[in-house]
Amino acid sequence: MTPDTPLKLVALAGGVGGAKLAEGLAQILPPHALTIIVNTGDDFVHWGLNISPDLDTVCYTLAGLANPVTGWGQADETWNVFQQMERLGAPTWFRLGDKDLATHLERTRRLREGEPLSHITHDLCMRWGIRHTVLPMSDDPVATIVDTVEFGELPFQEYFVHQRCEPTVRRFRFAGIEQAQPAPGVREAMAHADALIVCPSNPWVSIDPILKILQTAAIHLPNVVLAVSPIIGGRAVKGPAAKMFRELGIEPSALAVAEHYGKRTLTGFVLDSIDANLAPAVDALGIQAFVAQTLMPTSKERRKLAQDVLHLVEKLV
Ligand code: GDP
Repeated sequence: MTPDTPLKLVALAGGVGGAKLAEGLAQILPPHALTIIVNTGDDFVHWGLNISPDLDTVCYTLAGLANPVTGWGQADETWNVFQQMERLGAPTWFRLGDKDLATHLERTRRLREGEPLSHITHDLCMRWGIRHTVLPMSDDPVATIVDTVEFGELPFQEYFVHQRCEPTVRRFRFAGIEQAQPAPGVREAMAHADALIVCPSNPWVSIDPILKILQTAAIHLPNVVLAVSPIIGGRAVKGPAAKMFRELGIEPSALAVAEHYGKRTLTGFVLDSIDANLAPAVDALGIQAFVAQTLMPTSKERRKLAQDVLHLVEKLV
């Protein structure tokens, strides 16, 4: 694909898995051809600071600042503030490094002055040297709530980080989603998109909130919607996606992900090569199955998968 490609893509992303494919797409597409819409249902307030974990993971990854080991936070972090906070008795279940903290301090400062999240994100992206457009799904607060067998309803980070995803999931709720407007730029990006790429993010808690925002705002999906499976060989690469499927009574598999989105959302679905045997079952759902290497530990695999995805889009549009 040459940089003068006429195709325009929108990618939907959560944190770690979404950020990887977004980075691959950003390697091969010029800035005007890619908009990344990021989940903000995981956003929360901690130590009085507004934290947007998925936005930060996507931005740090695109900027080459991400910590390659953890998948969250920045590389080469120091922990001075965290250690002092610990000493002072502050809650330490959510780890915040010094560099990362600067992001949350600045975001919080600007939000308190009334600046919208999308505007702040745009400015931070420019300062980090990110040339592609990164949009929060909404400037309005949306809170993912996990209903668990053991504790009842838990705010997402309480479930995800504090309880280490251990409680058994019963269902999810996205508080505020009905009232949340898509962030400025979302509607326009979708209107001009030739294809929508659903990155390999957690379907339940990363992608569903974004799709719900689009649906509530009556934003039509492009004719081509291609998802990449976050489940490989029945397991999540990272995080609780497979565990969530199981606890909701669904055998976790790439096929289950395709079924979850369904043919009303997807035109195509990319399975990992180790799941190639599931392709006929995906086709039988009325969704075109494709097979690729979908594990993306480094920039090289991200670029390769992005190229494969782009070739599929070219075939489908
Ligand atoms: P979170 O908000 O940080 O949990 O991030 P996401 O929702 O974006 O990503 C979590 C999902 O990404 C998990 O279901 C993982 O299985 C998936 N994932 C992570 N790395 C990869 C990868 O290299 N390839 C694929 N196909 N999926 C991945």
